[in-house]
Amino acid sequence: VFDKTGTLTEGVFTVREIHPVQTGEEELLEIAAHAESYSNHPIARALLDAYGEAVEKDQVSHVKELPGYGVTAVYDGQKILVGNYHLLEKYEIPMDEVESTGTVIYIAVDKKYAGYIIISDALKKDARWTLRYLKEKCQGVLVMLTGDNERTARAIGAQAGVDDVIAGVLPDGKESVIRSLREQGKVAMVGDGINDAPALTRADIGIAIGAGTDIAIDAADVVLMKSRLSDVPAAVRLSRATLKNIHENLFWAFFYNVIGIPLAAGVW
Ligand code: ADP
Ligand code: MG
Repeated sequence: VFDKTGTLTEGVFTVREIHPVQTGEEELLEIAAHAESYSNHPIARALLDAYGEAVEKDQVSHVKELPGYGVTAVYDGQKILVGNYHLLEKYEIPMDEVESTGTVIYIAVDKKYAGYIIISDALKKDARWTLRYLKEKCQGVLVMLTGDNERTARAIGAQAGVDDVIAGVLPDGKESVIRSLREQGKVAMVGDGINDAPALTRADIGIAIGAGTDIAIDAADVVLMKSRLSDVPAAVRLSRATLKNIHENLFWAFFYNVIGIPLAAGVW
């Protein structure tokens, strides 16, 4: 099971489209960037990069990050929400759900829908190779698990070559998805984010991307120090070689003793 953002994809988003309801594009971006100014999420970085100017952090307060949803903050005396469909739904703010192959970020100001921004993220260069290799060398099913919306997830999943896509999963949902997948067999999970940590713990083997968040690294059994996805197959090869070595050692230990002990006891 692979997480999407930051695991299968670079986690480097660029702003593609800005659709304000009433304000200008620049103003919507300014609001979003300020609300995100304390976040380390790749989406926050994209919005801050696109804004380009220095944010006035002293104008921003009451920042709350909701993993898997987005952020809420007060900027310039207004309560701002920046996040996915579920975030606005949670705050009961009516808006239209936008269909896009990119990730759609919705913005609300003082409980009113203010517009959306579409950002996109590229697949990691070694993602396709890694998935194809795992498909060939390990029997099993490759699943992509993400908090992002269904449509974006399907597009990225098809590009990467996974067998199945589970999208729109809220943070605590990732762990229960892993729990139910475990009823069907052994599960290894690869992830990078705060919201992946419970799922990494729940899986038979949790693998964290080294450049990911500390909490994911703490929760994992295996950490890919160089953050290369192709080190997932390398870890599989290494563990198989280790196991083979253990079996060989056990064989020689027992084989030797089966002969050696009777000999020492004076069989001949
Ligand atoms: P993934 O599960 O693919 O790694 P995340 O769990 O980090 O992705 O995020 C899932 C979704 O939650 C994102 O696609 C986005 O819609 C929303 N989200 C999370 N954090 C933020 C944020 N700081 N700003 C805006 N949206 C966010
Ligand atoms: Mg992630």
